[in-house]
Amino acid sequence: MKGSYREFVLQCLRCGGRYSPHEVHTWCPACRVDGALDALYDYDTLRRDWSRASLAGQHERGMWRYDRLMPLASSRFAPSLMVGNTPLYAKPELLGPGSPLKVWIKDESRQPTGSLKDRASALAVAHALECGATTVAVASTGNAASALAGMSASRGLRNVIFLPRTAPREKMAQMIGYGAEIVLVDGHYDEAFDQCLQACEQNGWYNRTTGINSYMSEGKKTVAFEICEQMDWQTPDLMFVPVGNGCILGSVYKGFADLLQLGWIERIPRLIGVQAQNSDFMHRAWHSGQSMDIVERRTPSSLASSINVALPRDRLKAMRAVTASGGEFLCVDDHSIVRAASELAARTGVFAEAGAASAYAGLCKYAELHPHTPQTAVILITGSGLKDTSIYLPNTATSVAAAATRAARPTAALL
Ligand SMILES: *Cc1c(COP(=O)(O)O)cnc(C)c1O
Ligand SMILES: [Zn+2]
Repeated sequence: MKGSYREFVLQCLRCGGRYSPHEVHTWCPACRVDGALDALYDYDTLRRDWSRASLAGQHERGMWRYDRLMPLASSRFAPSLMVGNTPLYAKPELLGPGSPLKVWIKDESRQPTGSLKDRASALAVAHALECGATTVAVASTGNAASALAGMSASRGLRNVIFLPRTAPREKMAQMIGYGAEIVLVDGHYDEAFDQCLQACEQNGWYNRTTGINSYMSEGKKTVAFEICEQMDWQTPDLMFVPVGNGCILGSVYKGFADLLQLGWIERIPRLIGVQAQNSDFMHRAWHSGQSMDIVERRTPSSLASSINVALPRDRLKAMRAVTASGGEFLCVDDHSIVRAASELAARTGVFAEAGAASAYAGLCKYAELHPHTPQTAVILITGSGLKDTSIYLPNTATSVAAAATRAARPTAALL
């Protein structure tokens, strides 16, 4: 276990400034919200003191197993829920026996509150308590907030959620159940983002919001650590990651990069960021080659609410992930996301929410574009289908495509 704060520094992705964790919390003081920070560890010492073999002998399960690569003095304030330790299913023939792509599914729908966001929110709660905060807050379209509410509940920590009025009912139900204080915002995520920031600055609350709190990727990156361990340190050729704010994509890259520094893996997979057609800022920026400062911000309108954003708040980390890994951005339309969700559920029993199913839709598209290249691929299923059931239910407008793909199956008629 790490002894002190001295063993990591924070570096701004934008200006390169380096800070000690005593000086800054969440963003670069020079670049403000545009200055995402990387946590950099004492990799030389870790290489000497720690090994894949010593990790294998460790009993601790879940994300805190990797606490030496976390930006905390210790894990003593970790929420008392099992976060992480999610299954990786080998489904080599998911795309059919003839397909050259061999597939694994990392199933994050099994997290305590039903999404990968638990990894970040668990770290937020531990960090907030370590900093002496008594209230934590977040702006969210749903999953980050239900995760923060659940993790806070396990620690008896007061939490305030800034949520667009239009958030899915299921996610709102979770927050109410967990006892969060909810501020319903008229408008989109961007209004919630601004209100939360203002309230945190006025009241001295700890702000977990993605894109403001640079520590969140340090929690989410543990999903990459688990995949490496589960694949016996043989990283796949490709990994498909849904992209909204870009935090998960950036985090997955950081996880692999940490392990590469330790010499535990030999290469980082090519990371494929998957966006929805009507929420495709990163995809457009990538293909145009333009600076992200001038790429047009369009009002997003994908039904996949958890990846529906105008301006990805973690765009710097997301772009680095794709560029540095030799990956790419793909874009899939809502119809193919809905079809992918139903197909994944029916073929594997993994029940994904629309945002999560986009990873599988991206894999299918990639397979069409590169039909002859034998490769191994992991798809990251980021959240449970129970979080927003509307795409699966035939009597809602958005479910028409889903019902159509199942038309031959009698159950569709019974629903
Ligand atoms: C948040 C979320 C995403 C997108 O993650 P970003 O970090 O915003 O890119 C994808 N799927 C699910 C289920 C999510 O909750
Ligand atoms: Zn900076």
